[in-house]
Amino acid sequence: MTLENGQVLTIGVDLGGTNLRVAAYTPDQGILDSLILRTRLEAGPSCVVDDMCGAIDDLVGQHTDGRVLLGIGVGSPGPLELPAGRLHHPPNLPGWDGFPLLDEMEKRLSRPVVLESDANVAALAEYALGLGKTLEVDSFCMLTLGTGVGNGIILNGKLWHGATGMGGEAGHMTVYPDGPLCGCGNNGCLEACASATALVNAANNLIAEGKAPGLNALGKADGAITALDIATAAQQGDVDAKRIYEQAGRSLGICLAGLINIFNLPLYVIGGGVATSWDLISKALFEELERRSYVYALTAPGRAASKGMPGGGTRVLPAQLGSEAGLLGACILPLHSAEQLRSSV
Ligand SMILES: [Zn+2]
Repeated sequence: MTLENGQVLTIGVDLGGTNLRVAAYTPDQGILDSLILRTRLEAGPSCVVDDMCGAIDDLVGQHTDGRVLLGIGVGSPGPLELPAGRLHHPPNLPGWDGFPLLDEMEKRLSRPVVLESDANVAALAEYALGLGKTLEVDSFCMLTLGTGVGNGIILNGKLWHGATGMGGEAGHMTVYPDGPLCGCGNNGCLEACASATALVNAANNLIAEGKAPGLNALGKADGAITALDIATAAQQGDVDAKRIYEQAGRSLGICLAGLINIFNLPLYVIGGGVATSWDLISKALFEELERRSYVYALTAPGRAASKGMPGGGTRVLPAQLGSEAGLLGACILPLHSAEQLRSSV
């Protein structure tokens, strides 16, 4: 079957613990239409899947005129077992342990569904539509610093899944053995040191200790301060806020140095809300890379060329796509699985 881009329709679903977003997409026009629904966690997984499939059917009904539905892509919180499509103790979806999400969706929809972790779909979007496309690389690694720290790895144009779909969990690499407790049960994971949640915890700890007068003066109750509040204070010169971001950049650099040493990829992308404060984290990040990764020290942009090495060197950059990356990535998942990603999106 040969299809022109304009004839192909996909549906993307971004399943989150708070909201679920569903969009209709064509490679030519991008997102045509989208719906946002509250994730009714209290009603249980079966009801949430009913809501999701109802929204998918609505969008398919409205947008298939003259188009062929190629498939439905879903980005889900992990840990996710693939190819079975089953969730295992997902911290953001309480009560979903063991839930066969892929089977339940395909049973209701009687259509092909492609399921990936939310970090993987964000990486896929950045690869196909963002920096990966701009810089024309076919392998890259992305870390998404949001509520947690997601990680997606694309090698030679394919998402790296590992043996059970759980590859790419760099968010839970240990940065500091005795660091803050992480949601996974370990201490000092990157997620516990550099996520938006970690920044907020660091600020609240300082305030509780009677330190950080500038942050305390914001007058926010415990838990109400946001990573953006801290960024704003840092931009205005608050030393404690600056130090909190610098420390996150340092943690990120330590973790990334390990990844660079392992993979030697041409591109590493930092996405998510924390990465929008790139100027606050990048200095410490690059100091750690230079210090801890000789692969980076040898191949930093410019340096690689001066040594006569091919390519543009090891680039570490903030993401090009913003908060829509997860939904866009879900929309293009069916194209990826049809192995026509670069030519079609
Ligand atoms: Zn962890």
